[in-house]
Amino acid sequence: MASHFPSIQSFYSREVASNGVNDSSSPTRVGDGFTASEVEALTNPLSRPFQPSRCYDVCTIAELQTGPHDYRITGRLVNFSSTGGPHRTPASPESCYFLVICDGTAAMAATAIAAENQAEIGHIPYCSVATTIYPGRNGATHIEFHVDQAGSEEDCSLRLPLEANTEKYEYLPGLMTLKSFLASGYDLGEGKILVCVQSVGPRRTIHPKKKEGTLGLVEVGIYDDTARCVMKLWQDKIPSAKSWVPNQTILLISRPSCRQYTSRQGGVNVEVGVGYSTIIDVDPDFPDAIWLRSKIQDMAKKRSIMVPFPADIWNLQSAMYGPNRTLYTLAELEDQARNRDPASNFTGKLSVVVYEMNLMEHWRRCTTYCNECCGIPLYANKPTAICKNCDSQRDLSLNPRVLGSFLDESGMIIGQKLIWNDEAWNQFLFGLPIEETTASHEQANPTQQSWKDIATFNTDSMRDLEMQLLYSRVTLTFGWSTELGRLCILGVEW
Ligand SMILES: [Zn+2]
Repeated sequence: MASHFPSIQSFYSREVASNGVNDSSSPTRVGDGFTASEVEALTNPLSRPFQPSRCYDVCTIAELQTGPHDYRITGRLVNFSSTGGPHRTPASPESCYFLVICDGTAAMAATAIAAENQAEIGHIPYCSVATTIYPGRNGATHIEFHVDQAGSEEDCSLRLPLEANTEKYEYLPGLMTLKSFLASGYDLGEGKILVCVQSVGPRRTIHPKKKEGTLGLVEVGIYDDTARCVMKLWQDKIPSAKSWVPNQTILLISRPSCRQYTSRQGGVNVEVGVGYSTIIDVDPDFPDAIWLRSKIQDMAKKRSIMVPFPADIWNLQSAMYGPNRTLYTLAELEDQARNRDPASNFTGKLSVVVYEMNLMEHWRRCTTYCNECCGIPLYANKPTAICKNCDSQRDLSLNPRVLGSFLDESGMIIGQKLIWNDEAWNQFLFGLPIEETTASHEQANPTQQSWKDIATFNTDSMRDLEMQLLYSRVTLTFGWSTELGRLCILGVEW
């Protein structure tokens, strides 16, 4: 296939003696003086190794001197935009791209690809220098995009945010909680927020009211320990979110753009966006980010929708039927877990009464089964569901909240804190001996009914099951997990 840009010479054909051959667009034209590899290097510049011809002095951005020098700087891209219209309109292939690069000492701007004007960088914090990367005429300026392997030394480098570069770090100027930013902090225009990605939504197509055409949009849920909100990524910024992991990726956003609007329900909402002078540090490495990361782990433990049963900690057979079985009261269990031997994953038995059941309530709310995908809770009244974000089918577990609470003479356990083994659910739901039935005095669950089966129940049988379990006395075999700080139910005996 003929390339649209066969060579530099044809590109600037008027400036070069053409030897009478003017038809530069003809693919059959021969002998323009360039070898096939030279043409390839121009038409597909990323195919060649990065080997600038000159010597460049390695320099931090803060140390750059204006004037003719050969510097080599390395930094992270913290914002970019294209000149394809000021706000969200598509960029044409000839657009100028405007890149903002930070290396922890300062920021700089670079305009790239056929920029017509020298960069006018406007007001971007810490950004006082700019360079133009212009293919063709400016042969001395090059740009190389690195793809670092996750966890490598390069990947961990250059993650110190601007102004955090001090030996005795105390605080980052302008950093505020998301709550205070949303309340009024955005008025200042200078604020910084440190947030964790909560969810990355699906790509949507928006038809703007006042403009023709369509726009791509991805909504990223962000939160810290004080609030949560939505950050909108439009058009060519959408791919940036591709590598963001819900509940893991931390973003330091300096000068986010902010829009206040009234929702249909009448509430005032604030959404965050990436403006021209915004700087986003992805996974920044400084004390506040380390603090937020551990805070988020604590929060995740507390609000987690579904904690999977930890396999391979306990031998279920010996815990249930082995020689060393200790009967605990709830108070003794608490004492052992918190005070006496907090480091051990001990097991034992509890004799408790089912004090509260929420089976019907969750059935009505369609939250009988649950799981989490893409950082978003998934609920259903059947044991599978499709994640609305990634469209994949997920297996759900029985929602531990269907059991309200257990009670003994010394205390109470809230059901939502328990982590159930699948077999223990089967024994709990279907193991109770049924009184006054034709099945005489046999143990129930002879057909090995599963917790998945209640998805086929109608409302009446669900209510019957709930009434049957409520206020009955049951023996639980438990395991205390120190890693999770939770009580796991290994088995149930009636
Ligand atoms: Zn998903």
